[in-house]
Order: sequence, then structure tokens, then C-alpha cells
Amino acid sequence: MSITTRLNDVIRDIPDFPKPGIVFKDITPIFQDAELCKELIAELIKPFIGKVDAVAGIESRGFLLGTGMAQALGVPFIPIRKKGKLPFHTHSVSYDLEYGSAEIEVHTDAAKKGARVLIHDDLLATGGTAMAAKTLIEKLGAGVIAYSFIINLSFLNGANKLSAPVDSIITY
Ligand code: AMP
Repeated sequence: MSITTRLNDVIRDIPDFPKPGIVFKDITPIFQDAELCKELIAELIKPFIGKVDAVAGIESRGFLLGTGMAQALGVPFIPIRKKGKLPFHTHSVSYDLEYGSAEIEVHTDAAKKGARVLIHDDLLATGGTAMAAKTLIEKLGAGVIAYSFIINLSFLNGANKLSAPVDSIITY
């Protein structure tokens, strides 16, 4: 069975979470299957072996596989967190959500200047979060060479907003 089919079998839709009208893609069942996790990490990193200097993961579901991806690639992991969570000096960026706004941060020493960074998150929706993450990486003097997601909700056209190639395992 292909990895896409196996992922499709375990990722579940939770209607009206966290609010009415949203169909939430719950990836937590993936983590009940250690072998599937291992294969998923291998699949996510495949296009980027030898091509990146760091993996940046977006809080919080981007941490679940992002650290494993960085370790498998033999490169550092950069945590991108919600405002107020990182203890050292930070760069921050605000971005618009459907209702209101959000702010994410990165440590000022999280990447070397000129580093080729792969940004990872579990899911691409409108692209706002991914776009803001790229701005943060650029504030470090590094560059984003690509985005990696488990899931791309392509009907929301998030990839059109992003100015780096988008790789994903499952497209809805
Ligand atoms: P966006 O900025 O709109 O691309 O939203 C992406 C972020 O929101 C990611 O960190 C996702 O984990 C989360 N997200 C957005 N929509 C969904 C959804 N339908 N199911 C699960 N997570 C979602």
C-alpha cells in the first residue's frame, strides 16, 4: 500500500473544530504507528537530501515531524513559535488571520546567514502562516528554498501566495 493511501486511512476529519464551518484534519493517529512515522519522515525529506542547511518547524504540529526531518537530514532544527514562548532575543512578525491577527517569533541566532532553510508544517491552508515564517527566516539573513507539508488543502490556493516551491504528500 502506498504511503499516501496509508496516511489517508488514518488522518481523520473533525467537522466544526475548532469552530463551526472548519473541517479539521487530525494527524495525531499517524503517531500511533512508529513505522509509518519513519516512512513519512523519509518521504518528506527525499527531495531535499543534501540541499538544505536547516529545517524550520512551525509551532506546534510542525514540531512533530520537523525535528525528525532535521535529524534525518543531519541539519539543525529551527523552532518558530507563537509570541511570548521563546526565551532568548527574538525577531517577530505579525500576520492576518481570517478573524484578527497572530504573531510568530524566532530566536535571533537560530540560523547562520546565507543558510538554505526548508520550512515544515503539518498542513497548508491559506498560506498566511507559511508566508510569515519565511519573513522570519529572511530576518535572520537566511533563505527559504522550499516548503514541506504533509497536507496541502489546495482548494484554498495557499501555494499561490508562497514565493518558494511547495512539496506535500497529500493534496485535497
Ligand atoms: P494557514 O496560515 O491558513 O495556511 O493555516 C495553517 C496553519 O493552521 C497550520 O499550522 C495548520 O496546522 C493549521 N490549520 C489550518 N487549517 C487547518 C485544518 N483544516 N486542519 C488542521 N489544521 C489546520
